Amino acid sequence: MKSTVRYQDTRGLDLTGPRFSDVVVKGIAPGGGLFVPETLPELNLNEILALADAPYWRRAAAIFSRFGVDVGSERVDALMRRAYGAQWDNERIAPVIEARPDMHVLELWHGPTSAFKDMALQCMPLFFSESVEMLHARRLAEDDYLILVATSGDTGKAALEGFADRAHTNIVVFYPADGVSDLQRKQMVTQRGDNVGVFGVRGNFDDCQNAVKAAFSDESFADELHERWSLRLSSANSINWGRLLPQIVYYVSAYADMVAGGGVKAGDSIDVCVPTGNFGNILGAYYARRMGVPIGRLLCASNENNVLSDFIATGVYDISGRDFVTTPSPSMDILISSNLERLLFHLAGPEAVREWMLQLAEEKRFQVDRETFAQMREVFVGDFVDNDTSLATIRRVFEDTGYLLDPHTAVAWEVAERLRDDSPVLVVSTAHWAKFGTDVLSALLALGYAEALPADCDGLSGVELLGRVQELAPGACVPHALAELDTLDERFGVVVDAGRESIEGAVRDWLAR
Ligand SMILES: *Cc1c(COP(=O)(O)O)cnc(C)c1O
Repeated sequence: MKSTVRYQDTRGLDLTGPRFSDVVVKGIAPGGGLFVPETLPELNLNEILALADAPYWRRAAAIFSRFGVDVGSERVDALMRRAYGAQWDNERIAPVIEARPDMHVLELWHGPTSAFKDMALQCMPLFFSESVEMLHARRLAEDDYLILVATSGDTGKAALEGFADRAHTNIVVFYPADGVSDLQRKQMVTQRGDNVGVFGVRGNFDDCQNAVKAAFSDESFADELHERWSLRLSSANSINWGRLLPQIVYYVSAYADMVAGGGVKAGDSIDVCVPTGNFGNILGAYYARRMGVPIGRLLCASNENNVLSDFIATGVYDISGRDFVTTPSPSMDILISSNLERLLFHLAGPEAVREWMLQLAEEKRFQVDRETFAQMREVFVGDFVDNDTSLATIRRVFEDTGYLLDPHTAVAWEVAERLRDDSPVLVVSTAHWAKFGTDVLSALLALGYAEALPADCDGLSGVELLGRVQELAPGACVPHALAELDTLDERFGVVVDAGRESIEGAVRDWLAR
């Protein structure tokens, strides 16, 4: 095994030097910081290009081993074969396609839930189980884990699918009963697996998330879970390093594929444009760049919740006067982009991060110093796309190229067209169009975001609406797992009140089932 890499945290408070398996299980550092590796591996060009000859699971295993994970290399290979195996509907897993001769698209939605969260959540739960197994073997812990998730859509389903029937884990997902589409709800309530639970929560996403957060910070609930069920709580959310590392792999992989496919000359740099919410996906590209992948600029694409593109333009992160806007790209609707803290740490160090995070908590804004701002501007550029323009982009690109974008990818496509220069651009595609079929239908019908669908669509299920899209876009395929949703049994029908007690009650009932 290569030498093991130790981790530090972005606020400089964890001095224990945890390893990969420790940080995967811990999730967040004591004091609220995020874990980052003490050293980053460097990849040379030959090493990167050689990956083009390997299957995706081997590419992932190679990058993990360069990161000095404390899991034996044979186990890493075995876990990666499972993570990136037959459950994907494209054997290249994360293929780069040429949607137009000058527009390369990295498709990150060939996994079981048709959105990019699968790239990490098909992988990370395997390493989570493995890490718990290692803790048990070293007699450092005896408990298993209960993952609690509050979701507005994509994450819940991808987490359920990733953790289903994984040893030493249980997962319970709460979704806002008023806040997910018919298709997203059906994806969750039909989930298979003996260790999974799903509950609706009366109210919107904020109500749902606040209630789950309150359960998380209730120590007496944690004690009860430990004493009665030998369980510890964990969240497995997108700040977990175990979710970030798999997101570096596909950028290295994509560059190798672009060179092998003739789209880029070996060594020439590309720009990458990412539809951004919590800053996790684009941060994967940032790490790949630091490790030596020839990436020039990172184009950060926001929707109308444009706090990030504003930050990149001004150096001021300000949520004090901002209201949450609903958009056709809900997985990018975010005010606090938690993973930004890792970038700030790499640019400015732990003292600065501590100060800025304190200001964000107290004053709802912070401003980075001039040097940090200048460093950020060397790499990042940002822009945002309004709701109607993102739908218009879906229609325009479909009419020009026959390629159907989902609303998240449409935001990135539009920003890439606005900001591109002479370098080849890689547009990152984060969802299959069918996952957001209702808005894609509006787009193809040339409707604005606020306009209702025609009356003959009233009462159609999410899956039936996909049929309407296919009438307008013959040849557009719907992934099997989505097409069959109306025929599956709904396993989970319970909806509970928003509030800590009802969340905890739901978990108790589920454990006692
Ligand atoms: C989660 C998600 C995003 C945002 O990714 P971040 O890593 O949070 O920036 C974009 N598009 C889709 C479809 C997603 O599911």
